[in-house]
Amino acid sequence: MTKKMSYAAQVSEKETPQTQPIPGSKQVPNSAGGFSFEVDDWKKLDRFLILGTEGGSYYASEKDLTVQNAEAVLRCVQADGLRTVARIVEVSDQGLAPKNDPAIFALGMCLKKGDLKTRKAAEAAVPKVCRIGTHVFQLAEAIQAFGGWGRVTKRAIANWYLGQKAGGLATNLVKYQQRNGWAHKDLIRKAHVSTEEGSVHDTLFRWVARDGEVSTAREVTRFGKDWKAGQKLRTDQYKAQAKEKLPPVIEGFEKAKTAQSPQEVVKLITDYNLPRECIPTQFLNDVHVWEALLKGGKGMPFTAMIRNLGKMSEIGLISPMSDGEKFVVARLADGEGLKSARVHPLQILLAQSVYAGGHGLRGSLAWTVSQKVIDALNEAFYLSFKFVEPTGKRRLIGLDVSGSMSSGNVSGTPLTPREAACALSLVTARTEQDWHIMAFSRGFIPVDISPKERLDDVVRKTAALPFEGTDCSLPVLYALEKKIPVDAFEVYTDSETYAGRMHPKQALDQYRQKTGIPAKLVVVGLVSNGFSIADPNDAGMMDVVGFDSSAPQLMANFIRE
Ligand code: CA
Repeated sequence: MTKKMSYAAQVSEKETPQTQPIPGSKQVPNSAGGFSFEVDDWKKLDRFLILGTEGGSYYASEKDLTVQNAEAVLRCVQADGLRTVARIVEVSDQGLAPKNDPAIFALGMCLKKGDLKTRKAAEAAVPKVCRIGTHVFQLAEAIQAFGGWGRVTKRAIANWYLGQKAGGLATNLVKYQQRNGWAHKDLIRKAHVSTEEGSVHDTLFRWVARDGEVSTAREVTRFGKDWKAGQKLRTDQYKAQAKEKLPPVIEGFEKAKTAQSPQEVVKLITDYNLPRECIPTQFLNDVHVWEALLKGGKGMPFTAMIRNLGKMSEIGLISPMSDGEKFVVARLADGEGLKSARVHPLQILLAQSVYAGGHGLRGSLAWTVSQKVIDALNEAFYLSFKFVEPTGKRRLIGLDVSGSMSSGNVSGTPLTPREAACALSLVTARTEQDWHIMAFSRGFIPVDISPKERLDDVVRKTAALPFEGTDCSLPVLYALEKKIPVDAFEVYTDSETYAGRMHPKQALDQYRQKTGIPAKLVVVGLVSNGFSIADPNDAGMMDVVGFDSSAPQLMANFIRE
């Protein structure tokens, strides 16, 4: 007798090769030739806001990925504009994302493409999302891209200028003078920004419009009540009066332009709390100037400090056992300071990997590395995540180290998704007692990384791992075969899985059944595509966005439940 063909065997719901969809599920083809679940538009919005699309991915160019994401964001704006605005504000204001650019882009879309309620909510959100001068230029670019200037957008921009206190606005004006062809005077003109004549804000706008030259006597008459109407002043009188009204940082900025010596610049930095952007280039090779910038006033802003560690080492401000080194190390240990300055863990990881290299990403800067600063950055990485409490659960971490995780960049940094994933997984290892980390592509690869190691070593090691195709079910199958009790599997991946004989979801079902442990699966997405191996209908599976600075906390809450 010939063997009967079995329909059931060919379409088992228990084991389906990853190149086919699980029967009855809503799986969709991924870019790798396999099938994954599709995340909903709100998760796509989150991935876009946190991971961005800069640098593209293994499967898609930056442009294609941006278009796909923009379409998903637009669907969110149309489905529930207020919720979209609220999420943009949350991600931006709480510093959940490494970069603010996607939030500004999405806010621009709400301002232009939303219904009236959405546009008004977006208008009100501008000061929360656009906190510095650069941000308002980026918003202008987005507004231009989404159809140009209307009443709401003009008002939104105007309120950005008018809503700030004069001192803060003045600092914004001198610190961020232009970007991609946009300058403050363009925006002030475009958005018809104006206010009570003769007020400090009005004086500032005039100062900007004239590039710092307030000179015609004709306009003096419009300068307010203490300037008698019709009174003609000489240019120098005019300047003197305007100067009195302008916040002090403007005077400092003007004086710095004509400074003759580093000593003079140091004094200006100290007296006027001038930021680096106000210092003429010829003085930016002087150690005393940098020392004043680092320590003056409230100290150099955190992000500027982290970005300039190489420069400060090169000129000898951060040198072995120096005050500069001590100052930087102490500052990096200030977890609250890091958080309130919205310093993102990915920025620290990147700063560490660049600084440890001893030379800049481009250009000719080279420096002697301070091991103390490296160690301080290592600690700062963990400090900069939202507070995480240990769950006490057994967590098995699976790192996707396949080819697709090895190209493209995370959030526009030079780090590949798999390098970033390895560093990120150490947050779990650092917090918990019971953890095990393995890496998978087509097979199981032991990976010897631990939170006791320096992150830059981990990143280097990771880059050297071999890679092949992708089978995201391997962590679960491994635990099943080795009879390892696991409460939560954490898979760091782009979900472009195709190489396995069954889907991760099916492997997890088998694991739960055979061990009796109601194991959970957390998928940590590292690429802003639309896929996940997590089944949205399984309450024991969760999808988080890698490098959301609150992700470790969200994961812990989910696993603890
Ligand atoms: Ca892959």
